[in-house]
Amino acid sequence: MSLSSVQSTLSTLKSCQPDIRACMDMVSDVALGIVEAQGMDNSPALKKLEEMILECSRLDREISCFVESVDEKTAQVRREPPEAMFHLKSSVKERFTELTAGVTDADLQRHSKVVAFRDSVRRYAMQAGQTAAENEEEESDEDIAVTQSQTNFTCPLTQVEMVNPVKNKKCGHHYDQEAVLEMIKAKHKNKKKFRCPKVGCGNADVQQSDLELDLVMKRMIQNHKRQSGKT
Ligand SMILES: [Zn+2]
Repeated sequence: MSLSSVQSTLSTLKSCQPDIRACMDMVSDVALGIVEAQGMDNSPALKKLEEMILECSRLDREISCFVESVDEKTAQVRREPPEAMFHLKSSVKERFTELTAGVTDADLQRHSKVVAFRDSVRRYAMQAGQTAAENEEEESDEDIAVTQSQTNFTCPLTQVEMVNPVKNKKCGHHYDQEAVLEMIKAKHKNKKKFRCPKVGCGNADVQQSDLELDLVMKRMIQNHKRQSGKT
């Protein structure tokens, strides 16, 4: 196996990571569906989903460890005589075992998507609880949509209701994912920074890495849409 084929195989493997993260968002969304339908009472199902998301976190982490091992060892091989190639496989394996052995449970819990899962479930349960308290007489899915219609779902960029709201972790403002990514790309192409478009916000440099899909708000928007479609 040549070094260039190692690199191309590695980039294929790396391309799985966004899919794993998208899968983690899906698991979180299923969890919100359970909270919406059954509240926090269905803890076995939530527990199961939490196990699933931690499994994804482990997979994501293992791919990173593998990529790191290969990068490190191939760089080393390049500096050594050609025979070193023969030991590449075993030295990568060894380094990988070393790196994965160092991964703790706390590391897996710290994955941003695992944190987002917990946070979303908690926020959504609170929101649903609040609505139920305000509306004690009748409890249905629609309750959630009613109070949330007062929240602002308009994207400051497109001026229309968001479809995939992302939250800026730095300033807390929301934008529609597609619109904001396009703006960041366009600004960076011209070597400029993208300023948060929310009026009065001092955040002068919005980075893609600051943005996190807000599943709770996404669900609120969908409920709101369903509700307003009925009336
Ligand atoms: Zn902002």
